[in-house]
Amino acid sequence: MSFDVETYSDIRGEVRKLCVEFPAEYWRGLDREDAYPQKFVSTLTKEGWLAALIPEEYGGSGLPLSAAAAILEEIQLSGCNGAACHAQMYIMGALLRHGSDAQKEAYLPSIASGELRLQAFGVTEPTSGTDTSSIKTFARRDGDIYIVNGQKVWTSRAEHSDLMLLLARTTPKGQVQKRTDGLSVFILDMREAKENGLTISPIKTMMNHSTTEVFFEDVRVPAKNLVGEEGKGFRYILSGMNAERILIGAECIGDAKWFIDKASAYAKERVVFSRPIGQNQGIQFPLAKAYASMRAAELMVYHAAEMFEAGKNIGAEANMAKMLAADASWEAANACLQTHGGYGFAEEYDVERKFRETRLYQVAPISTNLVLSYLAEHVLGLPRSF
Ligand SMILES: Cc1cc2nc3c(=O)[nH]c(=O)nc-3n(C[C@H](O)[C@H](O)[C@H](O)COP(=O)(O)OP(=O)(O)OC[C@H]3O[C@@H](n4cnc5c(N)ncnc54)[C@H](O)[C@@H]3O)c2cc1C
Repeated sequence: MSFDVETYSDIRGEVRKLCVEFPAEYWRGLDREDAYPQKFVSTLTKEGWLAALIPEEYGGSGLPLSAAAAILEEIQLSGCNGAACHAQMYIMGALLRHGSDAQKEAYLPSIASGELRLQAFGVTEPTSGTDTSSIKTFARRDGDIYIVNGQKVWTSRAEHSDLMLLLARTTPKGQVQKRTDGLSVFILDMREAKENGLTISPIKTMMNHSTTEVFFEDVRVPAKNLVGEEGKGFRYILSGMNAERILIGAECIGDAKWFIDKASAYAKERVVFSRPIGQNQGIQFPLAKAYASMRAAELMVYHAAEMFEAGKNIGAEANMAKMLAADASWEAANACLQTHGGYGFAEEYDVERKFRETRLYQVAPISTNLVLSYLAEHVLGLPRSF
């Protein structure tokens, strides 16, 4: 394995420099107002970081997944929040891998330049939850168009995106042999759709995440916006989900490092009973343990990225990377809050905000239970539990 913490040190240094322009006060203010970090996202876009994975022939920088992971890790480590725009990096993967040449030429250069934002991913629905094959949103073919009806939930950044990668049923579940057949992926131009049956409604959450519910009422999508073959969409989004899990794992590593650094600094300077609290092993050990968990998870994240880059089958590694990294960030978040005592709850220390933000990754984009079920069934060969 070639990964070490110095990997991509130039990229990491540049990203850190950019993030300095977006200090804690910036994020605190947005959090208070539930506002979108537009300036941060525009700056990342302008500097080309969100086009890291787009090949050079389409105007991106053609970097490998591990470089994108390093970018997102540094964003989180700097105290910023990549969740506002991380999807602009990886959603286009489905288009890149499975789209036609005409689709790639039509969209990828504009996505690379930031002229078009593709950062809404419409998969989850209220009645199906984790059981993606049971989604009900239906796209019915009618000549040169598909007519879409249904509802998505937790479609993050839909209000800050021009396009959505949409998963819909094109054949009813009862008429397919395998339950994952009959699902199709579309590029939905939300700018047009908003005039024609698409409604986006924000959901307020415990952290500032710009997530929404989306309703489709006879939304017309040109048939040329179908990605790949009709009915094969589940397979296309799975390959994208592996990249997403690795990148979100990298964000969790950045979060874990932020919490550990923040707590260690505070433990050295906070004096109680006439000595720094960090002199007590009761304070040291949870932080040392969190550090060890973070390092182990970091190895898995970059190992999974390397396997992805080598084109290997990485379902297990992508899932493990995401779960271990999310666990490590949550362990570090708890240790950091505990180290800060009462001050950990005060807005001005930023611990409570990052604590709320990193908690999400126990649930999304895939919950821990589902990762464990995957490993039990597909790696250990145990009977499927659902
Ligand atoms: C802030 C936020 C942003 C999100 N952004 C997006 C997005 O942009 N696009 C998108 O498509 N989705 C998005 N999601 C959805 C996210 O991926 C789902 O919330 C997640 O996959 C879980 O689905 P659910 O919430 O319906 O939970 P459910 O499926 O209802 O599950 C609830 C709980 O039951 C557990 N559970 C369910 N079935 C089993 C089982 N068989 N065995 C053991 N445990 C089980 C789950 O692990 C979970 O803990 C987002 C969610 C949140 C909260």
